Amino acid sequence: MKFISTRGNAEPVGASQAIMQGLAPDGGLYIPESFPSLAHVNVHEISSYPELAYEVLAPFFNGDPLAPYLAEICVNAFTFPAPMIQLEEGRFVLELFHGPTAAFKDFGARFLAYSMEQLLQLQKRKLTILVATSGDTGGAVAAAFAGRKGIDVKVLFPKNRVSKRQQHQLTCWGGNIEAYEVDGSFDDCQAMVKAAFMDEQISRQWGLSSANSINLGRLLPQMVYYVYGAVRVQAASGKKPHFIIPSGNVGNSCGAYWARTMGAPIESVTLALNANRTIVDYLKSGNYAPRASVETLANAMDVGAPSNMERLFALYGDLATMRLNVSAYSIDDAAIRQSIKETYEQYGYIICPHTATGVRVRKDFVSESPTIVVSTAHPAKFEMVVEPLIGHTLEMPPALEELLKRDTRCTSIGTDYRELFQ
Ligand SMILES: *Cc1c(COP(=O)(O)O)cnc(C)c1O
Repeated sequence: MKFISTRGNAEPVGASQAIMQGLAPDGGLYIPESFPSLAHVNVHEISSYPELAYEVLAPFFNGDPLAPYLAEICVNAFTFPAPMIQLEEGRFVLELFHGPTAAFKDFGARFLAYSMEQLLQLQKRKLTILVATSGDTGGAVAAAFAGRKGIDVKVLFPKNRVSKRQQHQLTCWGGNIEAYEVDGSFDDCQAMVKAAFMDEQISRQWGLSSANSINLGRLLPQMVYYVYGAVRVQAASGKKPHFIIPSGNVGNSCGAYWARTMGAPIESVTLALNANRTIVDYLKSGNYAPRASVETLANAMDVGAPSNMERLFALYGDLATMRLNVSAYSIDDAAIRQSIKETYEQYGYIICPHTATGVRVRKDFVSESPTIVVSTAHPAKFEMVVEPLIGHTLEMPPALEELLKRDTRCTSIGTDYRELFQ
């Protein structure tokens, strides 16, 4: 199996090379040259999530150096469940927040970390991952890479601009994870990472690499829980379910579109967006106009220029095909609050502000088939928003509580990237 660039000006590469490179040399994103069919997978004979992950992902690693290790990588990466909650007849929530940092990004970040560790052992080399974070992404990456051999991680975050809990999750690791508190903004942090990559001497000497959400190694594992969820609901109801997915950079939902392309029993995929409505406007007008993001309560989805749209354009080509396959709705902050409150009152079920966009979109959804809203984070991560709406305090998930008990350590620096390498 080869992977090609969305921009069409790079050599096709195998999965391992795509994972190590991140971005294709022509600036595009790696996508599968073709999609294998799921027909070979007898899903009803599969007994565990890691086993299903192996079966779904194996064709993408056909002929790749990682192929012999794929089963073990899946066992190591996917150590937590993905429960399907039924709120009422035909209405489900797929909870993807039972990993170490209580958000769906744990699936992709952990698969990427174990894949890179194995590749580096095979290639007998080391690398240093640089991550600039405004909060959540850095936490998932730090947690996933902590203790992985041959990989050092440097996490940069803007001083006084991430929440206390987020800062704790960035600075509680030690070992191969080094946290840097930058006296500047998130944009400064990003600029420092860019400058470090541009510095050829430093980049070569330290073996710099990234682990951001456009990496193929984070995208591929995000197909698996859609296969898993769709198969379970179809088995129980006899019908293919619709997925409704809270989206920002569209990496999570890209996994759903890819799974559907492989033949997973998925009726449709709908994007729930916050007030960042670039994709809604595009589907309406036909004119794709990326823009600056606006701040919302669902802040992990505050994206005005969704990077994985490039992968959807490659999948669906023209506007008509896109409209047939992709629908999107924008939910504002007032409706997010209302959705959290209503869901609690109606079902006694507590959702995070991101998941709330999906639940709100479902409210107007008309179909005979079951619907699955994807829950992307544990509500306790956003207690400042959620607690006043439900009127009581939230219990932390055990994994997160464990992290918050650890000691923290970080290095304070200015905005010169060279301070990272002293
Ligand atoms: C990252 C994130 C999203 C958005 O996912 P994309 O892949 O960027 O579309 C939604 N909810 C939460 C909690 C997230 O952390």
